[in-house]
Amino acid sequence: MIEEILEYNKNFVKEKKYKNYETDKFPNKKLAVVTCMDTRLVELLPAALGFKNGDIKLIKNAGGIITNKFGSAVRSLLIGVYELNVQNIMIIGHKECGAKQVNGLEIERKMIIRGIKKEEIETMKYCGIDVENWLGGFDSTSKAIEDTVMLLRNHPLMPNDVKIGGYLMDPWTGELEVIVDADF
Ligand SMILES: [Zn+2]
Repeated sequence: MIEEILEYNKNFVKEKKYKNYETDKFPNKKLAVVTCMDTRLVELLPAALGFKNGDIKLIKNAGGIITNKFGSAVRSLLIGVYELNVQNIMIIGHKECGAKQVNGLEIERKMIIRGIKKEEIETMKYCGIDVENWLGGFDSTSKAIEDTVMLLRNHPLMPNDVKIGGYLMDPWTGELEVIVDADF
């Protein structure tokens, strides 16, 4: 699969197909979007919201939610705000999210079947990382989106003039529902 992708890439460059995508590092809409890595949203989300190459900073993870105040998603957002003119942040979760139902204990079992030593998982617990909780899902998507918005609004390093809102997308129609209004 990866070989095919590399082959495709050679042709893409050779045929100068990149010409349609030329832009710079600053987001035209002064917007950063945090959303889920779900396959259904890869093209649907930008299409449903009218985003073109160069319009936004796009940060993806499992669920599109943030639980760690000093993790990589917050780091990316702060760099966006201070270095790349981001003035608005949209947290976009979606219905039927695969990350929601994840059972951390089940993943631990799968890790052991795939050759991870039980002692490794136990050692992490002593280092403060409870693998079961860390990989586990969330009870309510709307609540997780709301918590993420609040985490960012109350973040000690996030300036007050950044507008932050929370939204829920339908992964079939692309319809967006407001969970937390950005204007508060
Ligand atoms: Zn998802």
